[in-house]
Amino acid sequence: SDSNEDNAAKTENSAQESVSANEEDMEELRRLARQQYLTAREKDKLQILAKELEFLEQDVNTYGWDNLTKSEQQEITIKRNLLALIKEKEDEKLQGFRLQEDYTDENGKIDLNKKRELLNRKSPKRERTSKDKRWEEQQLKQAVQKPDVDEIQVEGSQDYDFVFDEDALIEFTEVTDDVLPEEKGDYDTKLLEQLDKEQSRLQSIQSTRKSLPVYRYRQQLLDAIKENQILIVVGETGSGKTTQLPQYLVEEGYTKNGTLQIACTQPRRVAAMSVAARVADEMDVFLGKEVGYSIRFEDRTTPEKTVLKYMTDGMLLREFLVDPELSKYACIMIDEAHERTLATDILLGLLKDILPHRKDLKLLISSATINAVKFSKFFYDAPIFNVPGRRYPVDIHYTLQPEANYLNAAVTTVFQIHTTQELPGDILVFLTGQEEIETAQANIEEIANILGSRVKPMIIAPIYANLPQEQQSKIFQPTPQGCRKVVLATNIAETSLTIDGIKFVIDPGFVKENSYVPSTGMSQLLTVPCSRASVDQRAGRAGRVGPGKCFRLFTKWSYFHELEPLPKPEILRINLSQVVLLLLSLGITDLINFPLLDKPSIPSLMKALENLYVLGALNSKGTITRLGRMMCEFPCEPELGKVMHTAATHEKCKGVLEDVVTIVAMLHETASLFAHNQNDNARKSGIVGSVQSDHMLYLETYNNWRDMDYSKSWCFDHKVQYKTMIRVRNIRDQLWGCCEKLGLVAMNEVALKKITGEANLEPRIVRSFISGFPMNIAQLGTSGYRTIGEQSGGVSVSIHPSSVVFQEMRKEMKKPTKFILYQRLVLTSKEFMRDCMPIAREEWLQEMVPHIFKSNK
Ligand code: ADP
Ligand code: MG
Repeated sequence: SDSNEDNAAKTENSAQESVSANEEDMEELRRLARQQYLTAREKDKLQILAKELEFLEQDVNTYGWDNLTKSEQQEITIKRNLLALIKEKEDEKLQGFRLQEDYTDENGKIDLNKKRELLNRKSPKRERTSKDKRWEEQQLKQAVQKPDVDEIQVEGSQDYDFVFDEDALIEFTEVTDDVLPEEKGDYDTKLLEQLDKEQSRLQSIQSTRKSLPVYRYRQQLLDAIKENQILIVVGETGSGKTTQLPQYLVEEGYTKNGTLQIACTQPRRVAAMSVAARVADEMDVFLGKEVGYSIRFEDRTTPEKTVLKYMTDGMLLREFLVDPELSKYACIMIDEAHERTLATDILLGLLKDILPHRKDLKLLISSATINAVKFSKFFYDAPIFNVPGRRYPVDIHYTLQPEANYLNAAVTTVFQIHTTQELPGDILVFLTGQEEIETAQANIEEIANILGSRVKPMIIAPIYANLPQEQQSKIFQPTPQGCRKVVLATNIAETSLTIDGIKFVIDPGFVKENSYVPSTGMSQLLTVPCSRASVDQRAGRAGRVGPGKCFRLFTKWSYFHELEPLPKPEILRINLSQVVLLLLSLGITDLINFPLLDKPSIPSLMKALENLYVLGALNSKGTITRLGRMMCEFPCEPELGKVMHTAATHEKCKGVLEDVVTIVAMLHETASLFAHNQNDNARKSGIVGSVQSDHMLYLETYNNWRDMDYSKSWCFDHKVQYKTMIRVRNIRDQLWGCCEKLGLVAMNEVALKKITGEANLEPRIVRSFISGFPMNIAQLGTSGYRTIGEQSGGVSVSIHPSSVVFQEMRKEMKKPTKFILYQRLVLTSKEFMRDCMPIAREEWLQEMVPHIFKSNK
């Protein structure tokens, strides 16, 4: 039957997974461990294996044990054990030699009495079990029966030797245990333990599913969905909306035997990945098969197989480009709709458009209570289904005065709770981003170290958008007894992810928001106070398992008088260029009347149109151009699409597409590229001699890595995160595929032939970036750099100290260039430009964007 087949496929799969690429090495190790004496050649082999283990150990140090995959962990454990065993033997042998010397008399004759005495005194390091002894005896017998394989050396034919060796081994296995006694025992119990764990895990998953609040309303929910095309579901976080509702729909047969799919959108990619993994677990299928996820640059679904797909809202938006009727879906669940991301808002508008033609398409909108009515009104008074949740009371504590440094205050509060409050009870701290989380983690660890055994052990578990997937599961692992888990999270833990066991919430009350000022054309990430709705939501996270406590690091007065009641929807505060381009390419030209929950301001729409016009995505009539359509095809910002297009086609740039695609791919991952994000380190560790810009540093880094065959140890030696580089390579491949599809690669090839004599291609690369980011340019004035804003005359900005450009200027006392291009502005202590590229010649600006930089000489 079907399920049998599935099971068979699964066993096969899991077998494959545990057989790592290194199976041969392992076999060799096991063989060596079985042998009593090693030949010189074998010792060499052993050394190579030991060297490999050394690399693996370095990985353990760099990434931490928990971040390795299961099979990596397994491999390392086995290799460690085997190597230790072989080493021990070696040591014993050495000891034996020494002994031999000790019990020979001056004439070199063996003194038997002395020998007996010495041998008895030499107490073995570990107790020898009778099983061990038997194994040894067998070995000895074998050695007597068989010619010593190592002595049979056929000149020039190592293969022969090896084959012979193997033959001998196969016979071995029949009489002996094949694996060392100790090793095997160890291994088997571990395996059994794992199996046991797996079994109880599956059982507990099923009972957890039934204990969730939505379970009681399963039938009522399904009935409501059957009767209504649109349903709004409201329920406490953690009640099971995200993980259960889509499963119910699958169980109910909405996917028509796998011919249709169910999509569930998430505002954040971490949530999409983590929830998909959880649901795959619950349904007992492999992630990426029946249940998968799709986020930008990573599609873990199998087209013929996947029935349930968790995806970012942005990805579903892109699917409208290919299939405007979303015909392969039976149901769409817009999850976390109250977050009001730009993509979610646009999706709701588009769905409102197509639902009348697609009567069979079901739409579920899940939201926190605050926005439910607004969604209902938007969708012609669609019914609201309320899933009553359980929530225990949460005591709210405020600070008496405003805290000047909320990060310090948060760390202090962690220890206050940890030292005064009973276990169990985990702590959840809301911080604004990766950097803050890393700082807090370092501080907490430092203090915990100083306190040592005076406090109970703590487990620090960070979670933020760029956290490698392998590390994400740490926050969900149950806290061991006698321990306290401290989760350091961005507002992803506000509603998207539910972490069980949280009893204490520490909330500084801030969030990082993208905000865009149309008049200056500047977009920046700002740390701003959260809304009252958000901080209430956060406090609620403490009351899931029992009564909880929430420590707010701001005053009660501030809560009532300073916080906005609701967060500001993204559509009202960000650059709309990308979305406007998307809508135009979908044929929606009447932007003013497009249905939206909140309409963006006319100036920000105008600004978006103007940007797109500058980029050449629109013509002067406001119609989308061919270039504009191409820019839409790229899975990245239109500006970056334009850069790649220019690099392949523009007279003064073409031929550098390969390099530009690499830089664009690297720019997507700069946050986790170098240890602590210090571009300077990369230079110090000798990746590159001298580069003029961060862009070129990224390029050289990637190319060096590529030239070393994408080696892991190269990354280690140069303090580059290997896993990030793997992601970059994947992004690069996808962008390149896109360029191929659009014909840009072919155009670039032609151009490449013409410029082969050109010594320095950097000017072409710089020009390409100018074409895509003509608004991200700062000009040097009497008091440093200022952005080029037409209306307000620009803002004063500084080069971020981590930038290569900053380092170069300081070290070599170079004169700053008049113009500099930046990829991002970040406001911390000052307004900083990150990822900078000096523009060596002013005329490049006039060449590339003459309508902005008119020749003013
Ligand atoms: P909602 O969407 O209503 O907020 P979820 O469906 O996300 O709720 O979560 C329901 C429950 O599933 C949570 O309370 C938690 O116990 C469990 N859960 C969700 N994700 C995970 C995970 N990755 N690991 C372990 N448990 C999880
Ligand atoms: Mg949810």
